[in-house]
Amino acid sequence: MSHPAVPAPTLRAPLPVAPTLVRLGRAIATLELPAIEKIAEEMMGDAFQVLISTMLSAQTRDAVTLGASLRLFAVAPDPARLARLSAERIETLIYPVSFYRNKAVYLKDTARLLLERHDGQVPTTMEALTALPGVGRKTANLTLIVACRSTANICVDTHVHRIANRVGWVRTRTPEQTERALYAVVPRRWWAGVNLHLVTWGQHVCKPVFPQCGRCLLNDRCPRINVIREGRVA
Ligand code: SF4
Repeated sequence: MSHPAVPAPTLRAPLPVAPTLVRLGRAIATLELPAIEKIAEEMMGDAFQVLISTMLSAQTRDAVTLGASLRLFAVAPDPARLARLSAERIETLIYPVSFYRNKAVYLKDTARLLLERHDGQVPTTMEALTALPGVGRKTANLTLIVACRSTANICVDTHVHRIANRVGWVRTRTPEQTERALYAVVPRRWWAGVNLHLVTWGQHVCKPVFPQCGRCLLNDRCPRINVIREGRVA
């Protein structure tokens, strides 16, 4: 009598989006907030300071972003006072954020343009925000979400891009492609929250190198796409 062929192992399906975000929401409640959310909380959601901190955060560790933001806002908490500082003075205040020389110039120019074009206010459209020097879609989306309470934006940084691919929500090569793809697969009520959930999980568990799948609550069903090696769990 012949035996039925053993079925070939099947790839795990993508994680369901909404239930996964609900689970992550419970899990991140006890974890430290990412720098921008922390600053927004401390600064009562001041849109100017959220914008400037988000510009500082590009390719910079959270602790460094937080320190630089607090030093800068102690001297220049609004566009008028930031525009009056020299680029060299801004450099010394924000060092050691990545690309601090370029960022100092962008910050000064941004402050000047906010005064000239927007009466000292942070604009509330993607078009006007990305017209500011050094402001890309990531910075604009996060500013709209955190400072303007927009629910119509998804902010994709490297954490969101990486995790959305690992759990199978998207198959994309760049954060820009991921942002476009996520609008199609994430229920709208979750758009604003995707960044906070995935960034927090990415900083603590689903790390860029050696994700800690062994202590991840999504491990039972996560397809772990493109995960080559997992981190050791103590
Ligand atoms: S840590 Fe591992 S199991 Fe958890 S979401 Fe990342 S890849 Fe999936």
